[in-house]
Amino acid sequence: MDHSRTHAVAVIGAGPYGLSIAAHLRAHGVDFRIFGTPMHSWQAHMPAGMFLKSEGCASSLSEPTGYYTLKQYCADEGLTYGEHGIPVPGAVFTQYGLSFQKRLVPTVEDTMVTALDKMSDSFELRLASGEKVRTKMVVVATGLSNTAHIPRALAHLPPELLSHSSSHHDLGRFKGRDVTVIGGGQSALEAAALLHEVGADVRVLVRRPELSWNSTPIPGRRSLYDRTRRPMSNLGIGRGAWLYCNAPNVLCHLPERVRLAARVRQAFGPAGAWWLKERVLDRLPIMLGQFVQAAEARDGRVLLQLQGWNSERCHLMTDHVIAATGYRFALTSLPFLGERLLPQLRSVRQTPILSSNFESCVPGLYFTGLASAIQFGPAMRFLHGADYTARRISHHILGDRTRFRTPLSDGFKRLPRCKEFVTGEVVRPVIADYADANAHEPGQSAPVRVVLVQPSSDDLILSNG
Ligand SMILES: Cc1cc2nc3c(=O)[nH]c(=O)nc-3n(C[C@H](O)[C@H](O)[C@H](O)COP(=O)(O)OP(=O)(O)OC[C@H]3O[C@@H](n4cnc5c(N)ncnc54)[C@H](O)[C@@H]3O)c2cc1C
Repeated sequence: MDHSRTHAVAVIGAGPYGLSIAAHLRAHGVDFRIFGTPMHSWQAHMPAGMFLKSEGCASSLSEPTGYYTLKQYCADEGLTYGEHGIPVPGAVFTQYGLSFQKRLVPTVEDTMVTALDKMSDSFELRLASGEKVRTKMVVVATGLSNTAHIPRALAHLPPELLSHSSSHHDLGRFKGRDVTVIGGGQSALEAAALLHEVGADVRVLVRRPELSWNSTPIPGRRSLYDRTRRPMSNLGIGRGAWLYCNAPNVLCHLPERVRLAARVRQAFGPAGAWWLKERVLDRLPIMLGQFVQAAEARDGRVLLQLQGWNSERCHLMTDHVIAATGYRFALTSLPFLGERLLPQLRSVRQTPILSSNFESCVPGLYFTGLASAIQFGPAMRFLHGADYTARRISHHILGDRTRFRTPLSDGFKRLPRCKEFVTGEVVRPVIADYADANAHEPGQSAPVRVVLVQPSSDDLILSNG
C-alpha cells in the first residue's frame, strides 16, 4: 500500500454495503482503500441467537458476477438454505459476510475514520491509527452506526437503567432481571423472545394498538391472477414492496414531497417476522397502545409513567429499559464529518440530497444505506439495496475510467490523454513518470512510460520515452 499518494476512492465502513461497493471497485481495477471492522454491526450490535428477518434470497452481499451469494456460501459449507421459508441465523449471515470479505475484499483496513474533510481537489481522511489519507472520492457506508434513536422521555436515564437494543450482543446478562422492552418492530420482539429464553422477566410496551407480522411465505406456485395482483419481491408480497424493491431508479426521480410522504417512508415499518410469532405470543406480556410519558430513576430501578390509547394512566417499575426504538440517520451525528464539509452538504430532514448516482452535492462524496433511503426508497434500509447501490456507484466512478483505474497525480492530469487499445492484453493509457510530468508545462510533450497491464499480474513497463 502506498501511503503517500492520492488514492481514487475511500470507502468508510466494512458492513454489507461497504464490502459490496469495494468488491465491485476491486473487480473493475479501481484504486481504492476501505476502512472499518468487517461486519462490525452484525458482530457487536445485534443479539446473539438472532435470525434474519429477510428471506435467504434477499440476504446476499453484491459482487459483479453474482456468484458469491449466501446460497453459494451455504452450499460450500453444507448449511441448510432456502430462498424462502427457512429463517437465516444471524451467525451464518455474519460468517458469510466475513467469508465474502476475505475472498473478495481482502484489503480492508481494520481502523476507524475519525475525520473527513474536503481539500481543494481531494478529500482528506484521518484514521484512528494516526495516518492521513488523501482520496479523490469518498463513499460513506457507515450504515446504522451513530443512528440509534432513543425517545426523549427516556433519554435522560443513566446507562445502567437504559440501553438501546443496538448496545447488546449477549442478552444473557439480563438473566433473572425484570426488563421492559419498548417498541413493536422486529428488534423489540426478537430481543424480548431472546430475553425470555435466557430467563429474564421481560415485557414489551408497544405504542400501536396491535402488532403487525410479516406474512408467512406461501409454498407452491400462485395463480397468474394472484401473482399479478400481489407480485412477489425480495422484500415481500404486494405492489408497493415490488416497486420499492425493483425501481429505486424511478423512486429517486420522484418529487421530494412524494418520497417524503408517510406512505413511502413508513413502508416496511415495524413488524415481526412470521417465524417469531410462536416465540412471543402467549409467552410474555405485551402491553399494546402504551405511550411512555415520563421515566425516572428510583432506588436503582426505573419508574415508567404510561398513558394508554384510552387516556388511562399507569405506572410501572422495572430493573432496566431496552429501547428498541429504531434508527434515524442525521448528518450532524456522523462524528467524522468535518466543519468545512458539513455546511457544504445540501440536506432534507438531516439526510443528504443525492444524485441518481448516490453522489451528494459535494462532487465525489457518496452516501449509502440508511442515509440514502429518503432518495432511493425503503429498500436501502435492507441488504437488498446493496446490489443496486454498489452497481450504481461503481459504474459512476468508472465513468471516467482513465482517471480512476490508475494511480492519480496532478501531473497526469496535464498530459494529453491516450486512447485505450487492446492487443490480447489490456493496455492502460500512458502514465507519466510523475516527477517528470510535473516539470513540464501544459501542452508540452512530457517523457512518458507505456504501462501494459495483464489481468491479475503486476504492471509491466513496456517502454520509456
Ligand atoms: C437487529 C437488526 C436486524 C436486522 N436484520 C436485517 C435483515 O434480516 N435483513 C436485512 O436486509 N436487513 C436487516 N437489518 C438492517 C441491516 O442493518 C442492514 O441491512 C445492513 O447491515 C446495512 O449494511 P450497512 O453496510 O449499510 O451498515 P452496517 O451493517 O451498519 O455497517 C456499517 C459499518 O461501518 C462501520 N463504521 C461506522 N463508522 C465508521 C468509521 N468512522 N470508520 C470506519 N468504519 C465505520 C461500522 O463499524 C459497520 O461495520 C437489521 C438491522 C438490525 C439492527
